[in-house]
This record gives sequence, structure tokens and C-alpha cells, in this order.
Amino acid sequence: MKELTHYINGEHVKGTSGRFADVYNPAIGEIIAKTPLASAAEMDIAVQAAAAAQPAWAAVNPQRRARVMMKMVSLLNRDMDKLAEALSREHGKTLPDAAGDVVRGLEVVEYCIGAPELLKGQYTDGAGPGIDMYSMKQALGVTAGITPFNFPAMIPLWMCAPAIACGNAFILKPSERDPSVPIMIAELFEEAGLPKGIIQVVNGDKEAVDAIIDHETIQSIGFVGSTPIAEYIYAGGCAKGKRVQCFGGAKNHAIIMPDADMDNVVDALIGAGYGAAGERCMAISVAVPVGEGTADRLVAALAPRVESLKIGPYTSGNDVDFGPVITGAAKDKINALVESGIEQGATLAVDGRGFSLQGYEDGFFVGASLFDNVTTDMEIYKQEIFGPVLSVVRAETYEEAVGHAMDHEYGNGTAIFTRDGDTARDFASRINVGMVGINVPIPVPLAYHTFGGWKKSAFGDLNQHGPDAFKFYTRTKTVTSRWPSGTKEGADFSIPTM
Ligand code: NAD
Repeated sequence: MKELTHYINGEHVKGTSGRFADVYNPAIGEIIAKTPLASAAEMDIAVQAAAAAQPAWAAVNPQRRARVMMKMVSLLNRDMDKLAEALSREHGKTLPDAAGDVVRGLEVVEYCIGAPELLKGQYTDGAGPGIDMYSMKQALGVTAGITPFNFPAMIPLWMCAPAIACGNAFILKPSERDPSVPIMIAELFEEAGLPKGIIQVVNGDKEAVDAIIDHETIQSIGFVGSTPIAEYIYAGGCAKGKRVQCFGGAKNHAIIMPDADMDNVVDALIGAGYGAAGERCMAISVAVPVGEGTADRLVAALAPRVESLKIGPYTSGNDVDFGPVITGAAKDKINALVESGIEQGATLAVDGRGFSLQGYEDGFFVGASLFDNVTTDMEIYKQEIFGPVLSVVRAETYEEAVGHAMDHEYGNGTAIFTRDGDTARDFASRINVGMVGINVPIPVPLAYHTFGGWKKSAFGDLNQHGPDAFKFYTRTKTVTSRWPSGTKEGADFSIPTM
């Protein structure tokens, strides 16, 4: 059995806590490695190394720090296939989707090449007689990030690249489900020229997370994962006086207006609802057609497409649409929610239960399901299913459809499909959701904008990546200086006498 390690101060370090988590290949349902689960003492070793290395890194000028980012971009491109393969093996997503996971992270590294520009301060010349005032953005010190299983390359890169570009040290506590790619990222950063101790990976579970919350040296925590854990870390981190941003779960609604191009809508919903087996925080999990006619046309067009989705292991490359879900427990939870939908009276238009793939009977595969006539009191509507299940909630009017998205506790992403600019504009302006697509099903902002939801999908004041990341990973210091008027007539060579 392969034993994975931590990556502390530039070295692969074996776990010493005696606790491990199993890492599966979800396509075959077999344990392929075990990853160490750190104790507070192991976390402390990483924090001490980070604290020792960080001041020298912060003193490196921003342009040189940016060059590390430049090199990192080329190394990520060089190792793209290797990273995608390692990612798919532990996560289960298809190889093209895994490469996309790396690329969306790489784009944030590219953005961080602009660190010298983004870190420029402000200056007021002559704020008073002989007085100048200037603000500078300084690194926080030792920062930490806790990431989910579903984007093991993208989300660590969203956090560590800006943190490091700003001059911080960064400790990553990745998901214990797929920990290999985060370690590969740390190694690549060092190959790109980052000094030891500036990026470290400490594997673990709640114990490691609590050690991060409690450690006095750690200045900030970035978290992405489910909402209950986001709330826990946000409350704990804030109570300890840290800067914290936590991004949680989602239930993303797509509203389909009667004038929408139905072919377009069906293509969009198939990809956004079932891609990555629905294990995306920006997946569309609720479709809200407006009007009975729209709903009938939508379900009639969607059902055969859902039935014909190809499900299989990542080793099938482009021949599969999505792979297995992450664990057997995730599979059981999704199947139980599908059962609850039937019990609570929804119409199961496509039944993905009982899906099995020859040769992969032990894999964590879940067939694609499509529910019609879902109502807002059902568990399949209220809960984030995080699986290949799309729920159709029929609405009579545009106002009713918008109301559903507004009233849901999550507010990560949403989309509207229409040909009418006025409706689209009204929707974008009124909806209480952080990321909005207009005829775009998964409106994930690019690296130079920021990513973040509203309501129970995010806790904290700043979003991920883009300019917000450079605010989150720095603090402002403002200097007011007064210089008494001095000799301006040049040097005086005679001895001063009074
Ligand atoms: P998770 O909450 O189970 O785990 C996330 C991280 O928290 C992991 O590193 C895990 O080790 C740690 N953790 C788990 N239980 C903990 C506990 N009791 N105490 C402290 N730490 C704990 O989430 P997941 O299953 O890995 O990821 C899926 C979730 O992430 C979904 O809800 C999805 O919507 C969400 N997500 C959100 C975004 C976003 O930007 N809003 C992006 C991706 C994923």
C-alpha cells in the first residue's frame, strides 16, 4: 500500500500521528494509497518553518516573486498530462475535465504575474506642509488554506498563488480524498524558484483544521467546501482574530424562459448538470422552465439526452461524459436522495438508479437521473445533492421562477436562458446570487474577476482570486511623514557655529 506524505519545508515527510485516511481510485472502488492525518504537533512544525522562511520571501521584490509565477505557468503546462492523470485517478473525473481543473488554476497563477502592479500602494504628495502620506500593502505572514475534493488543482492554486505572490507563506490542508496533486503543485512551485517553507502541504482532517484555527502564528484562513464546515471554520477563525473567507455549498437554478433557444438550453443543462458527475459547486442542479409549454418541451428534449449520457472510468478518455463520484458514501447519499424524491412525489423522468458498468462493478458510479414536477418542499430541492441529478421545478411566471432562486438558502451561481435583453437585464440586476449567467450555464468568472457566492454559499467580505485576493492576502499600512525643511543651498564646508 502506497503511503503518501506531507510536504514540509521542502521535504516529503511521513506522518507521525499514526492516523491515516484511505485514498481510493473511485473508478474501481479500491484503496490505492493512504494519506497521513496530521496532529497539531505536525501542523506546528510546518508553521514554524513557514514563519522562519516568510520574512525573507516578503523582502524579495514583487517582480522577482512574479517571475516564480511565470515559471510556474510553464511548469504546469509542461506537466499537464501527468497532473491530469494523477487527479483523475484519485478524483474520478474525465481526463479532459481534469486538465480543465489544472488550467483554471493556472489562469490564476498567470494573473499573479501582475503582482508588482497589483501591489502598488497609494501616495499623496503634500498632504500638509512638508507632509506626505502613503499606503503600502504588506504580506500577512503565515497563511493557510483548506480545500475540497472536487477541484484538487484549481482551488489550491486559487489560494496559494495570490498568497505567495503577495509575499506570504502558505500552508495547504487539501482534501484527504485526493491529496496527490496538491503535493505535486508544491513541488512545482519550488522547481519554479520558491524558497523552502513558503508553500507546504499538511494532510489531515478535522484535527489538522482545528490546529490551523488555533495556531496563533497563522494570520488567515481560506476555506472551500460544504456549508456546515464553512460556518464552523468562519466562526472559529474569526473568534481567534484571523482574517477568514469561507466558501460553501450551492444549489444553482437555471431559469428557462419561453423564448429561449431550446437546443441551446438542453446542451447547456446536459453539460452543467451532469459534467463531473454533478460534483461542482457551479453545477446546475435545478432547472426552472417558465410556463407549462416550456416545461413540456424541456423535459421531452432533455430526457433522451440524459439517458444517452456515457459514464465510465477516466481511462476511457474522451469517450465518456462523466466518471464515478468520489466515495461509496457519496454514492449512497445520492441514491438515498433520489429515493426520497420519489417518496415525496416528484416524477423520476430518467432513472439512474441501479447503474452498473461491466468490469467496474465496485466503482462508485451513479447513473444520471432527471426529476420533473419537483416542489420546493422536497429534500431533493432543499439539499445540495452533489451528484448527477437534475430537478425540474415548473413555474407559471417569470416572477415565480426568480422567487425560487431568491428564496433558496444558497446563492452561489444561477443562469437565465432567454432571447429578451430586458428580462436578462432585470434578472441580473435583482437576483441575490453571486455569479450570474445569461445564456451561460456555468458562469465561473475568469481569473481577473472574482469568484464568490452570496447567502449560505460564502462567509467573509472578499471573493476568491482577481483583485480581491490581493486584498485578502495583504494588509494596508499608511505612513504619514513630515520632513523639517533642511539646507537646500548645497553643502556647507565651514564648521557650523552658532
Ligand atoms: P467538505 O466540507 O467535506 O470538506 C472540505 C474540507 O474541509 C476538506 O479539506 C476536509 O478535510 C475538511 N473537513 C471535513 N470535515 C471537517 C470537519 N468536521 N471539521 C473541519 N474540517 C473538515 O467538502 P467536500 O466534500 O470536500 O467538497 C464538496 C463541497 O464543497 C460541496 O458542498 C461544494 O458545493 C463545495 N464547494 C464549494 C465551492 C465554492 O467556491 N463555493 C467550490 C468547490 C466546492
